[in-house]
Amino acid sequence: MKRNPKQEGTNLFDCKPQTGPCPVGCAECFYNRPGAFYADIEQPIMPTLDEVGDGIVRINSGHDSNIGRDEVIRATEQYPGGSSTRRSPSSTFLRRWS
Ligand code: SF4
Repeated sequence: MKRNPKQEGTNLFDCKPQTGPCPVGCAECFYNRPGAFYADIEQPIMPTLDEVGDGIVRINSGHDSNIGRDEVIRATEQYPGGSSTRRSPSSTFLRRWS
């Protein structure tokens, strides 16, 4: 998995189930600017549990988490502390990182 260069050497791991440009389309958006994001936005970013270990999964890097929110929650339930075990904190986390 290609890591966010800003997270190299840290215990943070980006995760982005959504693909493609964010449809919200904010004018100042870094994520939607062609070639600006560190990974191909047409591909999901889903670190494996082995890659994450005891680290923290940052959901949702770049994209707006409220777009396809139920899908985002479902796709990330595998991670420790995910929505299946702690629904409210996970939901708060999703909102914070949108
Ligand atoms: S990712 Fe965030 S900043 Fe970019 S268009 Fe979507 S909501 Fe706006």
